[in-house]
Amino acid sequence: MAQRNTWQRERVREALADVRGFVSAQTLHGTLRDENTGIGLATVYRALAGLVASGDADSLLSPDGEALYRACSTQGHHHHLICRRCGLTVEIEATDVEQWAQRTAAMHGFRDAEHVVDVFGLCTPCAKAKARAEA
Ligand SMILES: [Zn+2]
Ligand SMILES: [Zn+2]
Ligand SMILES: [Zn+2]
Repeated sequence: MAQRNTWQRERVREALADVRGFVSAQTLHGTLRDENTGIGLATVYRALAGLVASGDADSLLSPDGEALYRACSTQGHHHHLICRRCGLTVEIEATDVEQWAQRTAAMHGFRDAEHVVDVFGLCTPCAKAKARAEA
């Protein structure tokens, strides 16, 4: 019965892969609507949740608390460095964070600990543009 929505999920996956950086479900839905795919917003949300669950997409909360999604180019657990101006995203490993998270969880008696650590900032071109604008 889930088979019925497979093409929609594939279409959402493709649309997500075309985007540079993270996008909201609404933005992605807008793109699909422009292409007259007939895919509804609820379906986009479901498809994105499925892609996140299967490890094909990343999700994170923006500093404004909005859920954002991205087709991920790295398999497995990793972190992101995200430019909050242009959306440039760098996938990073953070060995220090892994060790800290495990240690901290164990210290408090927590098992099966998971964590999400994404770092927001300004990339070099955006930092320069901002400095020029403020000069
Ligand atoms: Zn990623
Ligand atoms: Zn930037
Ligand atoms: Zn980690």
